[in-house]
Amino acid sequence: MKILVINCGSSSIKYELFQMEDEMVIAKGLVEKIGTESAIVTYQVTGKEERMETAEILDHREGLNLVLRLLMDEKEGVIKSKNEVTAVGHRVVHGGEYFSKSAIITSEVRQAIRKTIDLAPLHNPPNLLGISAAEQQLPDATHVAVFDTAFHQTMPKRSFLYPLPYVLYTRHKIRRYGFHGTSHKYVSEKAAAFVGKPLSDLKVISAHIGNGASVTAIENGISTDTSMGMTPLEGLMMGTRCGDIDPAIVPYVIAKEDLTLSEIQSMMNKHSGLLGVTGMSSDMREVTEAMEEGNEQAKLAIQMYLYKLRKTIGAYIAAMNGIDILLFTAGVGENSTYVRQEVCNNLSFFGIEIDTTQNNIRSKEVREISTPNSKVKVLVVPTNEELMIAREAKQLVDQS
Ligand code: ADP
Repeated sequence: MKILVINCGSSSIKYELFQMEDEMVIAKGLVEKIGTESAIVTYQVTGKEERMETAEILDHREGLNLVLRLLMDEKEGVIKSKNEVTAVGHRVVHGGEYFSKSAIITSEVRQAIRKTIDLAPLHNPPNLLGISAAEQQLPDATHVAVFDTAFHQTMPKRSFLYPLPYVLYTRHKIRRYGFHGTSHKYVSEKAAAFVGKPLSDLKVISAHIGNGASVTAIENGISTDTSMGMTPLEGLMMGTRCGDIDPAIVPYVIAKEDLTLSEIQSMMNKHSGLLGVTGMSSDMREVTEAMEEGNEQAKLAIQMYLYKLRKTIGAYIAAMNGIDILLFTAGVGENSTYVRQEVCNNLSFFGIEIDTTQNNIRSKEVREISTPNSKVKVLVVPTNEELMIAREAKQLVDQS
């Protein structure tokens, strides 16, 4: 069975074609700058060189059409006809309260995704464009929506409600939803398999730290709290996002700096976090290098970043009254030995002990970086959201 996974942004389509028998990626790539005469298309068959071309691509439908042409190309293609694609897994950012799991796309599902646009105005509209483009191009395939928010729908009210007038929840669904759910689910399952215990017996804290970052408390296999909120702005300090701040700052800065609402939103989402504090970069690798060269602002930004991350992990240990596994994933979590080391060094009170040699090993596999004496297993678990989406799609196809 072949499954195409697509992730659509406002001007991009990221795609991967999976062969589900061995869960291998057969081909993958990216269409960027959709809506322009010089859109960039990359295409890579596994084991071969990446190919890149520019073309006029005016919308997502044309973009996907080109992707399918490449996949079926006589010389470099990997499928002979569209019919070989059994299902398409669509990443959908926000499922609101409508979806606690992935769903086969029907007109009701599309309608519910549309109703959630207010909560994710930047993400859900391009996700919907991708869905309609793929349905047009692949009318015989099963289309499945996999939501970033779905895994967190198990959170109890005490975690997901804001202490605002309750009517804001009932009237406008203002609450915490959480994101990166597909990743948190995937890595927590991987971690449980690695330690050889059922996830249903474990207390796991999953730190997905990339450009966007969130920590999730997973008790007995279900998400009971997560650091992102109604939008992905809440929680940790991130590459360009501020995370938690006193909400009173917003009207104060608007008045003092004479900003509009959209300007302050842009400030908090795109010009804060590591970038805002360093004034130089949102990229953890670059900020770490600058710190090593003696840049004081970079050092401060990293200290703030680590402190917030550590506090959040500590809060979730308290919330769950314990922890069996702490895991790190995504760009920073998988690659920054420094961030892992510094976070864990200051969690020794909880019995967390890192083995420096293990922590310095680079690998694409799940690995343990805690010492044999550590009360808590600390793991690095490479995430794979695309594979998780493909698995979810396969499961729904198998059930249908
Ligand atoms: P996204 O949230 O966009 O998917 P990623 O998960 O790819 O992001 O993470 C990107 C982040 O990972 C960047 O800040 C990048 O600097 C960081 N990163 C990647 N490799 C390293 C490394 N070796 N050391 C420190 N940070 C790294």
